[in-house]
Amino acid sequence: MKHTQRCPKCECSSLLFLREIADATAAFGAGVGAWMLARLPDGTTRGHVQALICRGCGFTELYVYDPDSIPVDGTVVTRVASPQTSPFR
Ligand SMILES: [Zn+2]
Repeated sequence: MKHTQRCPKCECSSLLFLREIADATAAFGAGVGAWMLARLPDGTTRGHVQALICRGCGFTELYVYDPDSIPVDGTVVTRVASPQTSPFR
């Protein structure tokens, strides 16, 4: 949908882009913040989530604006092996 500018479910071309998605878990504190996808062991958050929404059917795709900001630590965040190197074929 991001590249075609068209919904893959209903073919509608009327789309909305959300630059920030409200994080409902933050609503219990001082206010609603932007939804960050990864919470790291040091308490910081990374991975600013954005969305494309189809106005025709409501289908929604999520994207991380800055995926390189999420460090691979092997515990919270692991790298997915490509099919050529994965032992799970
Ligand atoms: Zn749609």
